[in-house]
Amino acid sequence: MNSSSTAKTILFWISIVFLGVILWKLVSANKNAPEVVSYSDFVQMIDDKEVLNSKIYLEANSANIYVLLRRSQKYVQTTIATSELPEITARLRDSGANIEINQVKSGDWTLILLNAAPLILLVGFCLFLMRQMKGNAKRALPLRTATARTGIGYDLHRLEEGLPLVVGGIELPLDKGPVGHSDGDVLAHAMCDAILGAAGAGDIGTHFPDTDPKWKGANSMLFLEHARKLLDEKHFEIEWIDAVVITEKPKLGPHFPKMREALAKALGVGAEKIHLKAKTNEGVDAIGRGEAIAAHVVATLTSR
Ligand code: MG
Repeated sequence: MNSSSTAKTILFWISIVFLGVILWKLVSANKNAPEVVSYSDFVQMIDDKEVLNSKIYLEANSANIYVLLRRSQKYVQTTIATSELPEITARLRDSGANIEINQVKSGDWTLILLNAAPLILLVGFCLFLMRQMKGNAKRALPLRTATARTGIGYDLHRLEEGLPLVVGGIELPLDKGPVGHSDGDVLAHAMCDAILGAAGAGDIGTHFPDTDPKWKGANSMLFLEHARKLLDEKHFEIEWIDAVVITEKPKLGPHFPKMREALAKALGVGAEKIHLKAKTNEGVDAIGRGEAIAAHVVATLTSR
């Protein structure tokens, strides 16, 4: 998990805790809300001298009264008409209760905001979550549109005595070598075709025709370097290359580390992305008789 993901995870859990606290506050506030009693019950409580303290909030046509009961230490609340206020205050005074009178101004924004604070915070949190989810969806879009492509390449060269044998950019010890316009590196040629095929960029013959004297005896690593530039232009990246070289001689396994290094360097990728295998043809056909060498390559690219 990268640092950005960790920060988002922490932010998510902080948000969840925050939401929990808001909900708890809302529930608690509801639980501790004073019990609403009828006018007649309220008057009875006053007459029974149950009321210890009273707070009266005067509004335009009514008054909200909150009282603390002497024995139960609970608050109760009732609403009366303004015309009933003189009688109620007189009863409260006669019962020995403390009286505090407050004028509530209509449009008192401080009071409104204080009362609405939990709801405002909750709405704000929901908007924040929606924005985060929208952002995540937008960031996820390129992943859904990313494409992977696979290409296949094959090459075969006749072997003749007295020519150098180059496979995967490495010269190998053998008294025979491939006949070809370039250095005849079957592995590099098949790899080039696989990459070009995956990128939809033609084949090796399109880019390096064997009729062009410029490529006579050329190092095939140049072909791979050219293929890499085409991939950059088309915003492709090499994900994986799997190859098999078929020859009777020599044994290729010991040379694979150097081959992978040379191929990876030409392609500008890590050697771990190139997988090489060797086969013989069990003495069958031209390859089996040591008259030819061949290679098959599959390349997988992803778009950037
Ligand atoms: Mg070739």
